[in-house]
Amino acid sequence: METQTQHFDVAIIGGGAAGLSAAQALGRARRSVVVIDAGEPRNAPAQGVHNFLSRDGMNPLELLKAGRAELVKYGVEVVKARALDSRRSDLGFTVTLDNGMDVSARRLILASGLRDQLPNIAGLAQHWGRDVLHCPYCHGWEVKDQRLGVVDSAMAMHQAPMFTQWSKQVTLFKDPRKVLTAEESEQLEALGVEVVEASVTAVLGEPGSLHGVELSDGTQRGLDALVVMPNFDVDVSCVKSLGLVTQEHVSGIGRHVSADELGQSTVPGLWLAGNVANPMAQVIMAAADGLGVGAKVNADLMQEEFAHKVEQLRQEKAAVHNVHA
Ligand SMILES: Cc1cc2nc3c(=O)[nH]c(=O)nc-3n(C[C@H](O)[C@H](O)[C@H](O)COP(=O)(O)OP(=O)(O)OC[C@H]3O[C@@H](n4cnc5c(N)ncnc54)[C@H](O)[C@@H]3O)c2cc1C
Repeated sequence: METQTQHFDVAIIGGGAAGLSAAQALGRARRSVVVIDAGEPRNAPAQGVHNFLSRDGMNPLELLKAGRAELVKYGVEVVKARALDSRRSDLGFTVTLDNGMDVSARRLILASGLRDQLPNIAGLAQHWGRDVLHCPYCHGWEVKDQRLGVVDSAMAMHQAPMFTQWSKQVTLFKDPRKVLTAEESEQLEALGVEVVEASVTAVLGEPGSLHGVELSDGTQRGLDALVVMPNFDVDVSCVKSLGLVTQEHVSGIGRHVSADELGQSTVPGLWLAGNVANPMAQVIMAAADGLGVGAKVNADLMQEEFAHKVEQLRQEKAAVHNVHA
């Protein structure tokens, strides 16, 4: 079967807040744009998006649906597909999709987000984004004043004290092999955090209604929500052939791809927006990042076009000059 190839100024891999915002900026700048989106945004398990002014509590998938609808009038194409691979072409890049299509574009924006690798605890994954959570700014208000457990991790001494801002009933389930410093113990005591010397082995309850945890000492504890720290990872297999590599994030929370201050990757012509580069970006920040990168990519294309036009003019003038000489 022959592969169809469509040509665009910019191809964007990922149609979350970052990718759609980049597409809007570029569409409004009269660029031809395609967004390739597998449709699995990171916050899909959550009921609502919080800390996005004017959209507080809106379902994450509805927010993106509204975003896609806004792109129609700017002629942006959104293709529901997964990008599998990318390679250099005469135009810039060719991206192969899992629906048999090839897309070619002068510039590429990777806005594919990150993956939350959850702790391996029985029953935990089915509660993720509802009553198993990691970010107080995303869900803290929703679990305020409830019985909160914190699973031990490298970030536990950050999370347990922090969540006392939202509830006075915080329990840290400390890995018994770990020893707290005197300073850490004092801080937890001062903040009223209970420390239990046992690891969480299972989460109890139906999805959306967690009612407790099972512990390594064989006991159970009643809880309303559990705080975990996922390991952040990025999948850049769709641009791997271009030579893009991932790095450990400085904070120690996982991997990301580093970009310069404009959003440019180490691969010329390949730009990055949202969680793939900045794992700490919330939805509104990922959207802002997408807008910024979209504008930078437009400026980059303009520079190339202006240089080309100047060169054309010079050649035309030289040709006229030669005729008269
Ligand atoms: C449970 C949970 C709840 C959260 N709640 C909030 C909240 O309330 N408020 C808030 O501000 N933030 C919240 N966040 C953070 C929020 O999810 C991120 O800020 C946001 O998703 C980042 O947007 P993004 O566009 O970078 O990535 P994403 O939203 O993850 O979008 C990336 C898109 O790229 C697609 N993709 C990936 N690879 C490919 C490929 N090869 N081909 C095609 N498409 C691909 C994915 O399917 C996805 O649709 C939450 C996070 C989690 C985990």
